[in-house]
Amino acid sequence: MTRLKNFIGGAWVESSAAKTEPVPNPATGEVMAHVPLSTGDDVAQAVRAAQKAFREWSRVPVPRRARLMFQYQQLLVKHRDELAALITQENGKSLTEAQGEVLRGIECVEFAAGAPTLLMGSALQGIATGLDSSMYRYPLGVVAGIAPFNFPMMVPCWMFPLAIVCGNTFVMKPSERTPLTVNRLAELLQEAGLPDGVFNIVHGAHDVVNGFMSAPEVKAVSFVGSQPVAEYVYKTAAAHGKRVQALAGAKNHSIVMPDADLNLAVKEIVNASFGSAGERCMACSVVVAVGDIADALVQRLREAAQAIRIGNGLEPDVFLGPVIRDAHKARTLGYIEKGQSEGAELILDGRGAAEERDGYFVGPTIFDRVDPGMTIWRDEIFAPVLSVVRVETLTEAIELANRSEFANGGCIYTNSAKAIREFRDTMDAGMLGVNVGVPAPMAFFPFSGYKKSFYGDLHANGRDGVEFYTRKKMLVERH
Ligand code: NAD
Repeated sequence: MTRLKNFIGGAWVESSAAKTEPVPNPATGEVMAHVPLSTGDDVAQAVRAAQKAFREWSRVPVPRRARLMFQYQQLLVKHRDELAALITQENGKSLTEAQGEVLRGIECVEFAAGAPTLLMGSALQGIATGLDSSMYRYPLGVVAGIAPFNFPMMVPCWMFPLAIVCGNTFVMKPSERTPLTVNRLAELLQEAGLPDGVFNIVHGAHDVVNGFMSAPEVKAVSFVGSQPVAEYVYKTAAAHGKRVQALAGAKNHSIVMPDADLNLAVKEIVNASFGSAGERCMACSVVVAVGDIADALVQRLREAAQAIRIGNGLEPDVFLGPVIRDAHKARTLGYIEKGQSEGAELILDGRGAAEERDGYFVGPTIFDRVDPGMTIWRDEIFAPVLSVVRVETLTEAIELANRSEFANGGCIYTNSAKAIREFRDTMDAGMLGVNVGVPAPMAFFPFSGYKKSFYGDLHANGRDGVEFYTRKKMLVERH
């Protein structure tokens, strides 16, 4: 059985870890590899390699760095089916979802290939008599990236292509639950011609994260994961004087107005709630039904969710794969029990599907008449469990959504311009959708959660990403 290696200074090296964790395929339970829980020594080795590579890499002309991204993009396109299958095997999401993820990852590389334009500074001739001034962008040094399990390719691609093209060197810690895809991404980076030490991988869990935070050479940390860890990483890395962006959890509400196109709303909501087994930070976890649409909406959601095909994501037409681990399945079943005991109406119970299969499956689950006092309304369950809350007006719907401590995504289904405007201006969420289920921005825009969905100032991707991975120098010249 393969024990995964770290990737340091352009070579695959054994971790010094005594401990490993199995990496099962969540659809079958079959162990695909063992991941080492690397130590502080492994982190130090990787950070040293990245620091050593920084001197030369930061001086490589920007168009040459960008050209490497073009080369990388070609390789990712060539290997996209293989990458998608790997994502499905280690994460469980359907092959269609995995193919979508690969494209979203490639899109980040395409954005990074625009580096010569993105990295331009600015200049003003004549700030005073005989004086000119200009601004240049420089890389920071070594950047560390820490990723969650739910997007084994896309989330790392939010980080390293842009960081590298800006002239930084990078040390990545993939999720220990989905460590395989990033190894393949590293092989392809090497094939694209990336110099040794510019991109490194240290596998493991919290010891690696803590190692990054205490390493003085690490100048910035990009984190994506759950809320408590995001807050911890933000505070600890900032206390060590590092720049941090920490993207965190979510509880996204979709508001369905009485005038909504019900066919469209049901299709989009079912996809957003149950696609990727609800393990998306942009998943729809609460539907807010406004006025007299509620009965028809609930009935249609239940019918559509009942028709979902469950199984191994590699099989054609499977829509709903497993959740990531047995423990996550048990946690989800616990939330279903909790919802019932708190008085919500369980109109579709996914526990049957959970019993029938070997992997870590939970069937689509819907609760009606949920109220904001309930745990299932408040907590991020991160599984195929949808809550429906009924209200009378749009204002009530928005007030309810805004009571959540999270502010990642939010959607509205309506054809009313007035309702859309009220929603846009008053909804607490950084990424809004109008008649669209998962309004995840493309790589040239920032991924913009706030409240407890984000810790930091500059978001991932877009111009925010360029700002995050560079520092500015101002020059004043007398001629
Ligand atoms: P997680 O917080 O368990 O793990 C994320 C990373 O942190 C992993 O690499 C893990 O090894 C590390 N980690 C875990 N516990 C740690 C600890 N105590 N100390 C230091 N490091 C630790 O998250 P997950 O379960 O892998 O991912 C799901 C979460 O990520 C959800 O909450 C989801 O909403 C969130 N997410 C957010 C976004 C976003 O853009 N806001 C995107 C994807 C996922």
